[in-house]
Amino acid sequence: MLKIPHVSVIGAGLAGCEVAFQLANANIPVLLYEMKPHKYSPAHISNNFSELVCSNSLRSNSLNSAIGLLHEELRALGSLCLHSAYTNRVPAGDALAVDRENFSKTITNTIKKHPNITVINEEITQIPMENIVVIATGPLTTEGLSNSIIELIGEKSLNFFDAIAPIVHKDSIDFSKAWWQSRYNKTGNDYINCGLTEEEYNTFYNALITADSIDAKNWEQDIPFFEGCLPIEVMANRGKQTLLFGCMKPVGLLNPHTQEQPFAALQLRQDNNYGTLYNIVGFQTRLKYAEQKKVLRLIPALKNAEFAKLGSIHKNTFINSPRVLNGNLSLKNNSNIFFAGQITGCEGYCESIAMGFLCALFIKQQIFKATFTLPKISALHAILNHVINSENSNFQPSNINFGLFPNLDLSNSVVANSKKIPKKVKREKICELALQNLVILQEDLLNKKLITKQPTT
Ligand SMILES: Cc1cc2nc3c(=O)[nH]c(=O)nc-3n(C[C@H](O)[C@H](O)[C@H](O)COP(=O)(O)OP(=O)(O)OC[C@H]3O[C@@H](n4cnc5c(N)ncnc54)[C@H](O)[C@@H]3O)c2cc1C
Repeated sequence: MLKIPHVSVIGAGLAGCEVAFQLANANIPVLLYEMKPHKYSPAHISNNFSELVCSNSLRSNSLNSAIGLLHEELRALGSLCLHSAYTNRVPAGDALAVDRENFSKTITNTIKKHPNITVINEEITQIPMENIVVIATGPLTTEGLSNSIIELIGEKSLNFFDAIAPIVHKDSIDFSKAWWQSRYNKTGNDYINCGLTEEEYNTFYNALITADSIDAKNWEQDIPFFEGCLPIEVMANRGKQTLLFGCMKPVGLLNPHTQEQPFAALQLRQDNNYGTLYNIVGFQTRLKYAEQKKVLRLIPALKNAEFAKLGSIHKNTFINSPRVLNGNLSLKNNSNIFFAGQITGCEGYCESIAMGFLCALFIKQQIFKATFTLPKISALHAILNHVINSENSNFQPSNINFGLFPNLDLSNSVVANSKKIPKKVKREKICELALQNLVILQEDLLNKKLITKQPTT
């Protein structure tokens, strides 16, 4: 009989519990390290595992949404956290919201009574170097362990800031006002440019400097902003001209719709491999979400912009996964060390659960020498692909969204003759294909004993 070495999982958050449970169910012994209740991060307060530190919602449960698809995939493949979410669901329209206390308790009890899991309440500051190790300590990983990770991956530092500019769905930009051009036509037409007249800039500027920002949490107030990544509203407050010499400078741009240089302009840069999402260059912001939408939609080409993600700046520890991880979430320079959860560069509760689930699947694959392939049209593939294959020079965390899915070839579809295939149709097709793929994946993983049917809690 195969003698299976234990796996050490560090962090009993959403990802750590999912990894531990999935491995333990496959008869792999797990040592699960959690620093609570001896030490708490600034955002954690409960003794239970898998604590939801902020909202109690796992977002939309609609099968027409990317996040709803992720819920369904995780549920169908036997995720412990999703099982607990449905068991402890509270009414919230089409959102999957939970009684947070009972959600965490269900998971904690399941983990603690599992015969293959040993819980050790201890802060890890040095990564254990025996057998397989999973680091799932989340966005608020303690300093000691962060330093140990830095030493191991050989990067100058982990990314300690989530400096995020809003990300826009390309097909919501008005190209009768926007245009493609690189500044001074230097490097092809890679950027989408949105011009403003002086009057439009004045309106935009006044709205920006009077908009409400999110209050920094007490523990965030000590974090210095990097001068190179100041929130746009902070820069704007230095004077009306500042943005015109910074991220809204018009020089080197010519608006083909007016044949003039605009008074001000912002640029959007491709954000994903598929070219469906574009981030607004230099527009990191901590304005309240509703204010961001209001202010940015004052830019004529963005009047109807749809945002895949809004801007934020908060402390976040994540590694540069595309640079340091293999496709199975193990380290390129030590294939026995895996990463799971938000520390890999996904963002959100459900995404972190997904990265825990996938990490366990890859470890089982390694131990049992069984192979599987994630379908390209699936939410699990979409979030994994973001983490592993994004452009690594400015890697930033992301929620799941349709922009992370591949472009569909709908040339044979009934809608192919229409001039432009509506976004809604494309998204419905993605969901339809993903659900078909899920049935095949589920059967394959069950046959190979890489998953069990449903968790019992
Ligand atoms: C302030 C804040 C608010 C957020 N709000 C939301 C929200 O509303 N919705 C949403 O979808 N996402 C939100 N997120 C993102 C959310 O944290 C993650 O999506 C999710 O909790 C991450 O899961 P995880 O398992 O990777 O990490 P966590 O859930 O944070 O779990 C990490 C675990 O590791 C433990 N740990 C840390 N360091 C050590 C160590 N050295 N040794 C041992 N144990 C350790 C921690 O105590 C914790 O239990 C928020 C994040 C933050 C920081």
